[in-house]
Parts: sequence; structure tokens; C-alpha cells
Amino acid sequence: MPKVNTKLVAWEEVVEWCRKLAEVIEGSGWRPDIIVAIARGGYVPARLLCDFLDIHDLISIQILHWGKAAEITAKAHVKYPYTIDLSEKRVLLVDDIVDTGDSIIVAKEYIENHWKPQEIRVAAMQWISPVAKIKPDYFVDEVKEWIWYQYPWTRAEDTTNFFEKIVSEKKKEGKVEWTFEELVKEFKSWYGIDVGEAYYKLSFNRLLKTGVLKKKCGCKNTYIAV
Ligand code: ADP
Repeated sequence: MPKVNTKLVAWEEVVEWCRKLAEVIEGSGWRPDIIVAIARGGYVPARLLCDFLDIHDLISIQILHWGKAAEITAKAHVKYPYTIDLSEKRVLLVDDIVDTGDSIIVAKEYIENHWKPQEIRVAAMQWISPVAKIKPDYFVDEVKEWIWYQYPWTRAEDTTNFFEKIVSEKKKEGKVEWTFEELVKEFKSWYGIDVGEAYYKLSFNRLLKTGVLKKKCGCKNTYIAV
């Protein structure tokens, strides 16, 4: 059994979800003038919605919130605050997933107060209803049991963070020596997904670059948790 409930998401699924999301929005009879993507998770869905809804105005707002490997570290806040006039516009605020809802709440409040749109609505592919503090106006899946969606645009980042988590947890149990193959095996068993060799290599190299692991002297394939 995996230790973390994780779903590996394929690019094709994202396209399909966004196509469905566009249908839901269109079906509601409401049409936005402009889409605001929440960076960074909302970028790809927002761009696809522009295509499916034939919207040409797309901007972004960056919200910082989540820390490493699915752990909350900081309060959500606008990273680069700026002001524009959207008083004539109907705004669609887009994110990949509504989990706690904090990013959406902070972005929505900021836009309402500083950009003063005519109206603002929220769309996301997934809505984790038991934990979310806000329900998006438009969504594709209501998720009833918390799960980490491993979206294709965070594959390297998540794999690296998940590797790091494994190394630090195992270190507490006294395991400090690793081979690449061992770590990959552990990853598959903890998360129940397989992201593929290229991502494992890239992420393993990141651990070496950031000093989480270092090569064991005189041993070709053995690494030490620092
Ligand atoms: P929101 O305000 O949209 O609920 P959160 O503040 O909870 O978002 O999380 C911020 C971002 O972290 C999300 O937009 C998403 O990119 C990422 N994220 C949060 N929860 C998950 C999850 N369960 N699976 C994948 N990505 C997630």
C-alpha cells in the first residue's frame, strides 16, 4: 500500500478535464472577458481554457502557499502585488485544484479589492470538497477523499521533494546509504506511481546538486544522506 495517496496525471487527462470545464462554463451562459491564472498551478489549465472558450486576454497572479512534498509551510500571500483596472471586466480566476482554498481566497480578495472587476468567478479542474474553504463556481471533479494530484507540470519538482522526504524519513530510522535504484524502488512503493526513468535521474541529480545526498568516497554507486 502506498503511504501517500497520489494520482499520476497524464497530459491527455488535463486536456480532457479542461475541455469539460470549458463546456461547464459555456453551459452556464456566463462568459468571461479575461482569464486570470493563479501561478503557478493555474497556468496550463488557464491557457487551455483560453483555447476552448476562445478568450484572448490572459494574465496571472502568483500566490505563495505550499511547501515541499504536500506540506503546508506558510500562509498564502500575493508574491508580486500590482494594480490594474478591470472595472469593465468579467474575470475568470483559474487554478488547477482547490485544496485548502487558501490560494483562491487570497487571489480573489486581492483582485476584488485592487483590480475592481465587474464580476469574478472561479474555475478549477479538481475541488477537494471535504477540506476546501471555498467551492469553485466551475469544476470538473469533486474529490471526496484527499489525494495528491501529480500534475505533469510539477513532475520533476514533486519527484525531487518526494525523494527528499523518503531520504529524511529513512534517516530518522538510521538509513543513510542509498543507491539510485533503491531510492526509485522506495519512491514507487511510498507513492504508488511511476514517473519514469528521466524524472528519477533528473530529480536524483537535484538531490546531489542541493547537497541532500553526496557520493560515498570510493564507492561508485553509493550515496550518503547528508
Ligand atoms: P487552493 O487555494 O487552490 O485550494 P491551495 O492553497 O490549497 O490551493 O494550494 C495551492 C496550490 O498547491 C494549488 O493550486 C496546487 O497547484 C497545489 N496543490 C495543492 N493541493 C494539491 C493537491 N492535493 N494535489 C496537487 N497539487 C496541489
